[in-house]
Amino acid sequence: MAERRRWTAAPLLRASAALHVAAATGIAAMPAAWPWALAAVAGNHALLGAIGLWPRSSLLGPNLRRLPAENERQGQVGLCFDDGPDPEVTPVVLDQLDRADAKASFFCIADRAARHPDLIDTIVRRGHTVENHSWHHSHRFAAMGIRAIRREVGEAQRILGDLAGRPPRFFKPPAGLRNPLLEPVLAGLGLRLATWTRRGYDAVRRDPAEVERRLVRRLGAGDLLMLHDGSAARGDDGRPVVLTVLPRLLDTLAAHGLTAVSLEVVADD
Ligand SMILES: [Zn+2]
Repeated sequence: MAERRRWTAAPLLRASAALHVAAATGIAAMPAAWPWALAAVAGNHALLGAIGLWPRSSLLGPNLRRLPAENERQGQVGLCFDDGPDPEVTPVVLDQLDRADAKASFFCIADRAARHPDLIDTIVRRGHTVENHSWHHSHRFAAMGIRAIRREVGEAQRILGDLAGRPPRFFKPPAGLRNPLLEPVLAGLGLRLATWTRRGYDAVRRDPAEVERRLVRRLGAGDLLMLHDGSAARGDDGRPVVLTVLPRLLDTLAAHGLTAVSLEVVADD
């Protein structure tokens, strides 16, 4: 079982709490000021909501967007595949990774994983890690209250931990979108938020060359690249875009002397 982490509110959340207290005491001392106090609080909520819709921000809490400096020094690049497992795409991704001696982390949707336990088993047996990408991948995730978030993350953690033989260490919300209630839930389950340095949009873009360009632009050691083995877009030839892009990406990494790794290499804090 993963260790619980101590949750401490990020500085922005502490400032927001202070603002609420100031607004409340301000209204008590000067009742006529209530419209101003209310506007300040509403503005603060809008700000927190907007930041949650910015996947790469770390203002709501820690967020792994790159590999740590130690891994960067070793020329490692993190590869993540989201939204699987998928019976058509995942096995081919695994073969392509094997051919390049590359490792990756699979951010699985637990509901899908439960329907394909054999695929989770294969992912683990071939040396990759299974991470938590929620129970149902709800597009309402960023608007959920704490009980629903706890269920979406906690049930996924239980299901994926059982199937993979060890609990995931990282969580990525659907589309990277979240709200301030997520971080304390992750801390309670011993999970860390992970997003990406760069993504190829291979679940929506149909042109493999464009997806590849996005992924390798300013490519360097320590990057965390996100692709999809589930919900893959298809090119004009009907083939999932990721399957055309991945071998080329792995060639490019090798040509730059970079090694593709899973998040297994990231030390606990
Ligand atoms: Zn996703």
